[in-house]
Amino acid sequence: MFNINQITRKNIKELTPYSSAREEFQGSAQVFLDANENPYETAVNRYPDPQQRELKMVFSKIKGLDENQIFIGNGSDEIIDLLFRAFCEPQEDKAFVFPPTYGMYEVSAQINNVEIIKIPLNTDFQLPPLEEIEKDIKSGGLLFICSPNNPTGNAFPLEEVKRIADRFYGLVVLDEAYIDFAVSESGISILETTPNLVLLQTMSKAYGLAGLRVGMAFAHPEVIGVLNKIKPPYNVNSLSQTKVVDALIEKRKVAKQISEIKTERLRLIRVLEQMNMVKTVFPSESNFVLVEFEQADLVMESLRNQGIIIRDKSKEIKDALRLTIGTPEQNQLLIKALKNI
Ligand SMILES: *Cc1c(COP(=O)(O)O)cnc(C)c1O
Repeated sequence: MFNINQITRKNIKELTPYSSAREEFQGSAQVFLDANENPYETAVNRYPDPQQRELKMVFSKIKGLDENQIFIGNGSDEIIDLLFRAFCEPQEDKAFVFPPTYGMYEVSAQINNVEIIKIPLNTDFQLPPLEEIEKDIKSGGLLFICSPNNPTGNAFPLEEVKRIADRFYGLVVLDEAYIDFAVSESGISILETTPNLVLLQTMSKAYGLAGLRVGMAFAHPEVIGVLNKIKPPYNVNSLSQTKVVDALIEKRKVAKQISEIKTERLRLIRVLEQMNMVKTVFPSESNFVLVEFEQADLVMESLRNQGIIIRDKSKEIKDALRLTIGTPEQNQLLIKALKNI
């Protein structure tokens, strides 16, 4: 059974959190002289709302969750680090990943002195069957599943995520950075029945707000409570909070962009599949495609010489390069440059 006290680090359980001025007094007043701010108005002379209430209200409506199931971080990368600090006892608990996957899980584990256990995906980039990994995931800690997965592009069935979570003693972190480009359903639907599941989403990819640094975690209120206790008091700045609220209210533009990116993804895949120098185009539910080339290093270098930068993934996956889907014009330039090669 899920018990927050059994998975939270002892020092965190015992911690008295910092109490900020905006935490101690909430509401309206005529004069605020409690936070040593400069009193002259600049639109940002006051500290931001530490609990990002307006933002959570909007997310709560869009995602169909209670506000106490939502945590906002300075990008999902901050949330990944906070999860380690709260729920992994260094040199005791472990972090499980399914490579090839997003590199931050391992880096964050190393920073927090937590051992990382790598269980490779199958050759077709699917999760190994539960029976195979069950013996390996005995210890507590964090288990990361990135779906759709970066850099492979495919998503994993929710039922498998659920089955793994039901057998895992620690928290399962389902990173859905690319969910807006996917056909697959979000894990929000299994959150209620899976108390040890933490979903990560971000404003950095589909919403086009990478520069604002805003990421979200959706989880059991007790998990969110622990994250709130240890986060830097003002981790999301006021400009980012306002901009994200605006972007969520004005959703139509983003919806159109997402739909265009998906159309372009299909077009690019079709063109790539016709090329002799391409060995495999892997299926994608994200805004990038992983492509296996005959000579990846040559393609990489030639594109760079033609002013186009893509991501070299050949160290993790032989001869594989990751191409982000651009605008129709940018993709046309990419296709032209590939044809030159
Ligand atoms: C890009 C990406 C993120 C982004 O994180 P932010 O810190 O919110 O920008 C998270 N997870 C994965 C798998 C990503 O590819």
